[in-house]
Amino acid sequence: MTATVRKLEKAGRFADARAVARILQPEEPVFLFSAPQLLARLKTFQKGFPGTTSFAVKSNPSPDVIACLAKAGLKHWDVASVHEMEAVRAQTPKPVFHYHNPVKSRREIADAYGRYGCRRFAVDCREELAKIADIAGSDTSIEIAVRFVLPRDRGSSAHDFSTKFGAPEHVAVALLEEAARRGYRPLLTFHPGSQTRDPQTYVRHIEAAARIAAAAGISLTKLNVGGGFPADYPNSKGGPLEIFFHTIGQAVTRSFGAGHEPQLECEPGRGLVASAMSLLTRIKLVCSDGDDIFINDGVYGGLMEFMQVPELQPPHRVIRDGEILAGPAKPWKVFGPTCDPLDVLPHRLELPAHIMDEDFIEFGTLGAYGIATSTMFNGYGGHRVIPVETALAT
Ligand SMILES: *Cc1c(COP(=O)(O)O)cnc(C)c1O
Repeated sequence: MTATVRKLEKAGRFADARAVARILQPEEPVFLFSAPQLLARLKTFQKGFPGTTSFAVKSNPSPDVIACLAKAGLKHWDVASVHEMEAVRAQTPKPVFHYHNPVKSRREIADAYGRYGCRRFAVDCREELAKIADIAGSDTSIEIAVRFVLPRDRGSSAHDFSTKFGAPEHVAVALLEEAARRGYRPLLTFHPGSQTRDPQTYVRHIEAAARIAAAAGISLTKLNVGGGFPADYPNSKGGPLEIFFHTIGQAVTRSFGAGHEPQLECEPGRGLVASAMSLLTRIKLVCSDGDDIFINDGVYGGLMEFMQVPELQPPHRVIRDGEILAGPAKPWKVFGPTCDPLDVLPHRLELPAHIMDEDFIEFGTLGAYGIATSTMFNGYGGHRVIPVETALAT
């Protein structure tokens, strides 16, 4: 790499995928990260959400993203593991952690509490609360976030979150009571499902939170409404977040009563970072007597979520000689680089009929669950992150 290229990267001055393709011609797939796009989205949450915004680190744990958010003043981090605590603390000295994975080993609880100063733990089961109590004892600064779940509203989100975690209402009541009895600070949390498109899904959960708190005889001081906020994909438009924020604020006042609203928190992953990264891949082979192409990344790499939730198809465009390639398109079957037959995109992609090997394909809106879930299967993976002004997004 030349000194000019290093300077360009350091200054964050690649304009977009066209410039990266022209100047770097990356042979390996790379993620393109737009800090301006991330900061714009953060501002939408910070200005519009009627409470505190934290970031669900699991959706994109790359140091660039964490550092960008920390520099912009984000203080609260929803973490799924102690490893994520380490990743955040490497970028910012005094993070406040919400350990909202409802299942943690004793060792993990002890590390979070002792080494990372974590005072917020999620639970959805009495035995988990007992483990936390064994470690934290009578520390009354401990916050217990009781995660509850409602029977699923089919089709309300692209990715159902109701099947693994969350206590049913009557169990959540008992957990709130038990947390309070032990002298901890009880609060409620839920996750409505990733890419929730209907704001009413939040409303139903907020109404349930008010019922649960009332049944437990607790005046709730905090309510965390989770992640789930939608991003825009070509086949799954989230729409303006302001509608969600407004609907949530109104539902809280209606359900808890004016003047008795708990402090609100949200912890978006997808809704905050999805639009901030794209993936620049390269074509390795075009088979001319078929409709098959092979590219250098696939469902074991940055495109895994596309296989899990085909509705979240990323937008895409082809780049040749640093310019967008236009022309009559046809549907291509797109295979990834590994030797596994499962490594194929779930839908055919409309791409120009005259594509060739060494052309680039940029996939957009991959900031959430793109780099986070990519593997090293077959020796591929380990994507570099390159700063750009603009990353392709829907
Ligand atoms: C995954 C997760 C999130 C983020 O969800 P998105 O749908 O990406 O916003 C937030 N909170 C918890 C507890 C999670 O598990």
